[in-house]
Amino acid sequence: MLSPVTLRENPALLKLDLYCKGMRLDDSCFIEGDGGRQILRTRAGLGSGLELILPRGLWTNVPVTEPFAAASPHVLHREGGRYFIRYRGDIVTDVRLSPRPAWYDARTASGKPMTRIGTLQGTYLGIYQAKVCEYWTAKPKKTNCKFCSVGLNLGVDDADEKSVSEVLEVVRRARDESGITYVDFNTGHYDGDTYLDILEPYLVRIKKELGLLVGFQTPPHRDLSRYDRLRALGLNRVSFCFEAFDPERFKELCPGKHAEYGLDYYLEAVRYCARLGRSGPGHEPWVANGELIAGLEAPESTMRAIDWITSVGAIPTVCVFRPLVGTDLEHEAPPRTEQLVPVFARLYEACMERSLPIGCAPNVHVSLVMLPEECGSLSPRRFPWQSLKLKAMATLLRRRLAARGAEAIR
Ligand code: SF4
Repeated sequence: MLSPVTLRENPALLKLDLYCKGMRLDDSCFIEGDGGRQILRTRAGLGSGLELILPRGLWTNVPVTEPFAAASPHVLHREGGRYFIRYRGDIVTDVRLSPRPAWYDARTASGKPMTRIGTLQGTYLGIYQAKVCEYWTAKPKKTNCKFCSVGLNLGVDDADEKSVSEVLEVVRRARDESGITYVDFNTGHYDGDTYLDILEPYLVRIKKELGLLVGFQTPPHRDLSRYDRLRALGLNRVSFCFEAFDPERFKELCPGKHAEYGLDYYLEAVRYCARLGRSGPGHEPWVANGELIAGLEAPESTMRAIDWITSVGAIPTVCVFRPLVGTDLEHEAPPRTEQLVPVFARLYEACMERSLPIGCAPNVHVSLVMLPEECGSLSPRRFPWQSLKLKAMATLLRRRLAARGAEAIR
């Protein structure tokens, strides 16, 4: 099934295969010298590798530092300033380095390197709230998620404190120079459920001053009515990461989340927030996500999760498990591409069957996951009516954002 030809003809399959197998860098590569982004090894638990742009505008983040990548059949080469991937020695396709913006070398007025405040993940700005997830500091025993590297990473890449002004400074530069339209905030668990209180001031300032799309990825707050207020303030996205749908696997992989909230409460939060799309403000798009990691449970279980999430009107975000160095799962094998093709085909089909708003936000290319709209070429099914509707929604959203001052939108 996999060959240089199939990978060339189907960039979504290539993106998936690169997540699963990683890639080696030939000595000819000169990533930073050619304007690419530096490899941030375990940034914010997301498992950063090399940021690349594949054909058809698929942005990706390819594992290159994890041991499994050393045995990959994919090798990146450079010749005359051109970058291309070889698979088992044969050329697959040209690729581009994701551009490293000038603001990556700048500092905030307070003197912090801007990359310690936020970094681009594809084309959006990702900000990890620096306070460490308290599962990492739990006593007598850490209860962190087994795949996570946040506790290994903080203090290395991220700043300890990120004031609202510092964040605004970086968001403004990223909007003006990188054309971002979306800012994503990510936190771990904090006792007392303080994560929404911490993030709300950032949301208010960004909405007021820049009009960009904003999302929060946090644990599910115990008072779900808090999300009504955030929706009213203009929040555009909430994401709840429960990672595995099999209750036993969830318990095993996420002991802190299991003890603190439980899988059922994660699902309840997804269900509750998906309904908020019907309430206002009408000019602010809204999406609720349930986040999964493919490769940590049976593919059938991930597909059941996809069907459940879409059945309540939410959109699944599906990452591919990456055994990051230093984590509890560092010695596990990454999943096989062939096992995951049906999962990502199902992701596309389930979203289209329910006419969910995928691929509508302008200039949002995500490097760390396979977006549902990117997975169409993994499925034989076509949805012409839904595709037309999505196109119209995307045009409307682009106009709305441009009208309210997100003028960098292209
Ligand atoms: S909740 Fe789990 S995945 Fe999220 S930061 Fe904490 S340990 Fe990591």
